[in-house]
Amino acid sequence: MQSAEQTTNEIVQAAWDKRPLIISGPCSAETEDQVLATAQRLAATGKVDMLRAGIWKPRTKPGMFEGVGAKGLPWLQQAKKLTGLPTTVEVATGKQVQDALTFDVDVLWIGARTTVNPFSVQEVADALRGVDIPVMIKNPINPDLELWSGAVERIARAGIRQIGLIHRGFSSYGNSEYRNAPMWHLAIDMKLKHPGMPLINDPSHICGRREILLEVMQKAIDLDYDGLMIESHIDPDNAWSDAKQQVTPERLAEMLDSIIWRKEDVNSEEYHAALEALRQKINHLDDELMQILGQRMKIAEQIGKYKKENNITILQTSRWNEIIERASVKGDKIGLSKEFITKYLDAVHMESINHQKKVLDS
Ligand code: PEP
Ligand code: MN
Repeated sequence: MQSAEQTTNEIVQAAWDKRPLIISGPCSAETEDQVLATAQRLAATGKVDMLRAGIWKPRTKPGMFEGVGAKGLPWLQQAKKLTGLPTTVEVATGKQVQDALTFDVDVLWIGARTTVNPFSVQEVADALRGVDIPVMIKNPINPDLELWSGAVERIARAGIRQIGLIHRGFSSYGNSEYRNAPMWHLAIDMKLKHPGMPLINDPSHICGRREILLEVMQKAIDLDYDGLMIESHIDPDNAWSDAKQQVTPERLAEMLDSIIWRKEDVNSEEYHAALEALRQKINHLDDELMQILGQRMKIAEQIGKYKKENNITILQTSRWNEIIERASVKGDKIGLSKEFITKYLDAVHMESINHQKKVLDS
């Protein structure tokens, strides 16, 4: 018989399956009052599906606040009881997994500094064997998709069925607009590699400052991400960790309200017909581009023949600079960025060199 009340499992499953999935809560659990107040104010917005809080904090330097530890877990349990929000925490060791499970945490996540370390990921995976719980895996701090996928594989092999991906950006050296460079294409590649897994954006750790959160959130939604994990705090400026990037629950609700929510598809024949016609044009142009690139390589091979006969090196820097300069000027006139032109020509040039090298070696 179906009971009128949803079981905890059903509530967690409904949250996990919701699109967009909105996860929020403090960077760190600090005190019981702070956790309960944050959870209640988040729940009152009606816009949040899951409560996050860091219990064990991997900090860059010793002496920084390293989290309240397991004593914060009952606070989350209490917050869930008061608000009905399922909870999620970061785990980095087997012991932390056990503690989190003991206190009924609903969803676990693996942090960026753990994903980089196969020993740690394996330890977490071993602790999860035989447990049925959703696990989210943040990208590693360095831009290495193999490492990210490796972590996914280790967790999947432990028998975890529901795995999510969190894109929190990548460390970079020196000052930049972002705390962690988003490198959107990497996250999108990861999503294409793992199409069944929800991809969640963490604008808080990408931005590092609240002023630019909204534009990153909007970009993630424009790119069809499945959800957002955003840090929130009842008193952001006085948060014990990541103060600059946190927002109040009410500010979070305002931001969520001002996002333009886009969908992947719409049920309109006119839209589909127009889109289809434009896509045909794109296919046609892509075919032509391919033909032209093929022709370009044939000419490069002819040049290779001359170089071989005259014992000339393949790479000639002055000629290469001339090509880039010429193309940048032309590209600029038709709205192609210098960055794109350089990347595109680098790729074409590398292919050209490979073709010429074959001729020289023949
Ligand atoms: C966090 O979510 O608070 C955190 C420590 O994130 P990351 O692992 O992305 O640095
Ligand atoms: Mn944080």
